[in-house]
Amino acid sequence: MRNRRVKIRATMRELAVAALLICAVAFSSCTAGSGVAGVAEEGEVNTAAGGAANTSAESAAPYEEVGFAMGTVVNQTIYMRGENLSPAAITAEIIGILENVESKWLSWRVEDSDIAAINESAGTGVPARVADETAAYIEDALRIAEDSGGAFDPTIGKLSRLWDFDGGKNKIPDSAEIKRLAKDVGYAGIRLDGRSVLLEKASGIDLGAAGKGIGCDEIEAYLNEADGVKGALVNVGGSSILTYGEKGTGEPWKVAVLDPRDPSGFLGAISLDGTHHVSTSGDYERYFEIDGKRYHHILDPKTGYPADSGLMSVTVVAKDGADCDALSTACFVLGYEKALPLLAKYGAEGIFVDTDRRVFLTEGIRDRFTLIADGYDLEREEGTK
Ligand code: AMP
Ligand code: MG
Repeated sequence: MRNRRVKIRATMRELAVAALLICAVAFSSCTAGSGVAGVAEEGEVNTAAGGAANTSAESAAPYEEVGFAMGTVVNQTIYMRGENLSPAAITAEIIGILENVESKWLSWRVEDSDIAAINESAGTGVPARVADETAAYIEDALRIAEDSGGAFDPTIGKLSRLWDFDGGKNKIPDSAEIKRLAKDVGYAGIRLDGRSVLLEKASGIDLGAAGKGIGCDEIEAYLNEADGVKGALVNVGGSSILTYGEKGTGEPWKVAVLDPRDPSGFLGAISLDGTHHVSTSGDYERYFEIDGKRYHHILDPKTGYPADSGLMSVTVVAKDGADCDALSTACFVLGYEKALPLLAKYGAEGIFVDTDRRVFLTEGIRDRFTLIADGYDLEREEGTK
């Protein structure tokens, strides 16, 4: 049993800085706001918000580990039910699951992944044959593409490669080239028939907007099967987080949302009971600036340019990881008001931060979100639908 008195007493900011330092030391490319961290323990959040921490609860000592998968830092906190299974084996298994999702199914960069095979045959009329899981996740992506009116569009692949926010070119691509590639973007051009996938046009699939959420879905399925895990908090790069089960102390999970203009600090914290998925899309994650204008990695499929809907970040809380991740991207492109009916359709909640530093919450999360950062206004009125 672990006594809270001996729990590590880092402040939330220290936790974030520590995670960013790990990131900076291990991966030099993380500096442009990689969205690392985002998880805090309840005592610190309560203190920051002025509430009283429950110091009487005893809890089993969680097993904590920082690893690397899907091109990002993965923080895991595991609460075991018994001692028949090694938590280290569980965290290793989880990293393996994420690696598998990336390399076998989703990555367009990995030569023999399913998505790479689909992209290879794009426009040739010859379908690619993919794993059941890949087909199912493409089906999910098509549903969100349709429901979001194409704000989320998995056929954005060639455009995101042209902008190459990962590559650090920091250059606005040629406008004629953007226009040309944007013409071929359109989820309606994906023909999915069982395990066979055909991209009608010479476009490319990029499931990067849903990939970490898909990873979290696979982890949730694994934890449902794994005997002995009472609760877990898995944070994939700060932008997709799974809260699973319970700590066993009666205390909720606390998930921090990063400050979009100071991602080494926290905007606020969400308090969640049980299993949930939390995904954030922000203009601070991968971007460059030219003449004071920010060019970020979330593209408007209709224009081929970074989405300009007046938001700096959107955090979505949902029951399904793939949906949650894709929804956060779709909401970012749609903007606050247009995103509300989409979230309502999925029974999901959202935290929107606009460029005037106003924070808007959907109704179901109002009692569960605490604003921490200075310089932001929490808007309390209902959004228009
Ligand atoms: P996220 O951080 O989850 O919002 O995902 C952003 C990533 O998804 C980008 O780096 C691109 O690879 C891809 N992407 C960008 N814009 C879109 C979009 N409108 N629809 C689908 N995928 C997108
Ligand atoms: Mg996303």
